[in-house]
Amino acid sequence: MKIELVNTGSELMLGRVLNTHQQWLCRRLADLGHVVTRQVAIADAGNEIQQAVREALSRADLVITTGGLGPTSDDITRELIAELLGKKLVANPDVLAHIEKFFAKRNRPRPAKTTVETMVPEGALVFLNATGTAPGLAMKIESNPFRADKKPSWLVMLPGPPRELRPMFDAAVTPLIRRECADEIFVCRTLRSTGVGESSVQNKVESDLQPLVKTGLEVGYCARPGAVDVRLTASGVGAEKLVCAGEAAVQKNLGANIFGFDDDEIESVVVKLLAQNKKTLALAESCTGGNVAQRLTNVPGASEVFLGGVISYADSAKEKFLGVRAESLAAHGAVSEAVAREMAIGARGKFGADLAVAITGIAGPGGGTADKPEGTVFLALASAAGVEVKLFLNSWDRATFKDVTATQALEWLRQTLSA
Ligand code: ATP
Repeated sequence: MKIELVNTGSELMLGRVLNTHQQWLCRRLADLGHVVTRQVAIADAGNEIQQAVREALSRADLVITTGGLGPTSDDITRELIAELLGKKLVANPDVLAHIEKFFAKRNRPRPAKTTVETMVPEGALVFLNATGTAPGLAMKIESNPFRADKKPSWLVMLPGPPRELRPMFDAAVTPLIRRECADEIFVCRTLRSTGVGESSVQNKVESDLQPLVKTGLEVGYCARPGAVDVRLTASGVGAEKLVCAGEAAVQKNLGANIFGFDDDEIESVVVKLLAQNKKTLALAESCTGGNVAQRLTNVPGASEVFLGGVISYADSAKEKFLGVRAESLAAHGAVSEAVAREMAIGARGKFGADLAVAITGIAGPGGGTADKPEGTVFLALASAAGVEVKLFLNSWDRATFKDVTATQALEWLRQTLSA
């Protein structure tokens, strides 16, 4: 089954809005067992939209368009597609009633411009918009004139705002796809690793995956700051078995470096492990500026295990809030094993936590020396067993440096807690 997406909107092409529909719809469709074969984004320009939809309909069994269904002058998708398919637009009383109710509920008169949203192509299925006014539309194009084989195609048109598109897709399009498009078996599993670079990950797993690739397993690698994902996919009969065999091969070769699966984030794994081990955590962050705390506090339930942290950026803050000794700072500098150690001990004591992680480093640009180049980072982990310190060299731009360093701190915690 071939599916194509046509995302319309001049704001996408001007870089004003990130095309989140592309990712969101691809993900939802993959969960339904369908892989999108092509996606195109185009400005709100008449001939461009018609050309993109005509081309997509010449190849695909299902074409989904997004955007351009609203009431303003740049919302032209509905009219253009009706014209392309030679369909008349007819007033739909259900849509009108829905829009009137929408505005009555908000105690506002219905703007005259919304009348355009009540006009739908003849014969189209109409999806009332639970969170807005413009309806979604779907049409089965029998003997599709744009396909050489004249096979039928479905065309689904969804509104642009994500808060409207997403519930509409789940409520109306998912059942339509389940009903009209034969389910294909499609299995996708992502194993998330850290602490090993992208090419090393491939080197470690490829020879064991090779025989499976020959029998239909697809393998993809995706590098992110401080982490590499290995994606295993297969379709058709035996897909589940093939992906499981792939997973076992990756586990065998990457083992301890795998921190999670699919949508797992390392911080959520750490929060879970802290809770399971009944341990509390405190942080002393310098060069990461609170990045570790920010990530941990994104996880629901973090308050059970994360007591707090100090962003001790200045030397004076390291002394005042963590009890780092002036002599250590003077003798070794803020980025040193001795100071990292004292920061971790200080945070553990001040917060009364079971574990404390301290991070001090040189993010750059600038600030490096011959013995401590830009990217130098000391991480310290204090626990009842004592303090350990690790040295890393993270030579990246400033933002990546912070992300990678925070991931290393979280990974050390993960390794410690799962030991
Ligand atoms: P409206 O009634 O709001 O005009 P519409 O169906 O005409 O809805 P658009 O005008 O194309 O939709 O888009 C409305 C808003 O939705 C955009 O300004 C943008 O904020 C958001 N949006 C549109 N397309 C996308 C996309 N591909 N990814 C993320 N957001 C999008």
